[in-house]
Amino acid sequence: MNISADQPVGPTTELVAQLWQVISANLPRDLTWPVLLMTTLLATGIWLARRGHGAKNADGCEQKSTLWQFLLPKDIYTHVSARVDIALYVFERILRPLWVAPVLIVLAPAIEQSVIATMNNLLGPSPRLASTPSWMLLYSLITLLLYDAIFYLIHYCEHKIPALWAIHKIHHSAEVLTPLTRYREHVIEGPIYAVGAAVAYGLAGGLFGWIFVEGITQATLFNIGFFSLLFGFNGSFRHYHVAFHYPPWLSKWLHSPVMHHVHHSYLPQHWDKNLAAVTSIWDRLFGTLYIPEKDETTPWGLGPETQGNYRTFLQNTLGPFRDWHAMAFGAGQAKKPTED
Ligand SMILES: [Zn+2]
Ligand SMILES: [Zn+2]
Repeated sequence: MNISADQPVGPTTELVAQLWQVISANLPRDLTWPVLLMTTLLATGIWLARRGHGAKNADGCEQKSTLWQFLLPKDIYTHVSARVDIALYVFERILRPLWVAPVLIVLAPAIEQSVIATMNNLLGPSPRLASTPSWMLLYSLITLLLYDAIFYLIHYCEHKIPALWAIHKIHHSAEVLTPLTRYREHVIEGPIYAVGAAVAYGLAGGLFGWIFVEGITQATLFNIGFFSLLFGFNGSFRHYHVAFHYPPWLSKWLHSPVMHHVHHSYLPQHWDKNLAAVTSIWDRLFGTLYIPEKDETTPWGLGPETQGNYRTFLQNTLGPFRDWHAMAFGAGQAKKPTED
């Protein structure tokens, strides 16, 4: 929705154009061709380096394969779970405009403004520092750490509180992982994480906005400098079936993609592990970090006892309501299989 500079527009058109800018800025960045190409190239590198090993099949077991099978395994991409990923993704994207604008246009700036006002009250006027590339890097880093901490907190609560697990279960009902699985979530879950992101960006933006009165605009909402690449890449590869390990020392700081394979596994030792989005810092701090062995089997999904209730689009969409009803009337449907 582009409006040329010399074309007169009314306020409604302008408002819609602004809204569209916000919405389009929030479209997924990791499903772009460059990121998918990078994922394919890295996966090819892993295939070469490990002589055909390193990819998992639909059961989450490592197996040797030809390059084509390695990159695009038939058993994963024809799986009913991969098809339901698409349906849930489309449904979520249709409803997304209803809440994206209010959260991003109203909530994030409101938090930012109240942080600036609080800083003014507590510490007086801004020191009016000049923004430099090092400050911008620090701003990006603080934003990333705050985002990751709030993501961790929300995610932890979703795993531990049954009423929230009823919602998050939809992400975990994926029986195979594809780059689209990142967006496999219940429609209620998107706004929860968006509020978390708005809080993180609002807090960091307010703090740095107070320090730098001329504005520290390099890193803005949903664009945290070069960390956005890390963000997009990690999100895409961690839902890919190829086991991409980092060296152990690096895994203690950053989540390697294979560490999210563990998060999606239904084996008891893997439950509630690796809950952050990008860094390993919060998981390490709260004892939920799990760095898997090479070729560790990670069968994905909710486990044999529950999976049958979460196979179709309709089952996944109605799942939380069914669980809440069961909870209210004492049937305890939201329990994890391992808690039984
Ligand atoms: Zn989870
Ligand atoms: Zn996931």
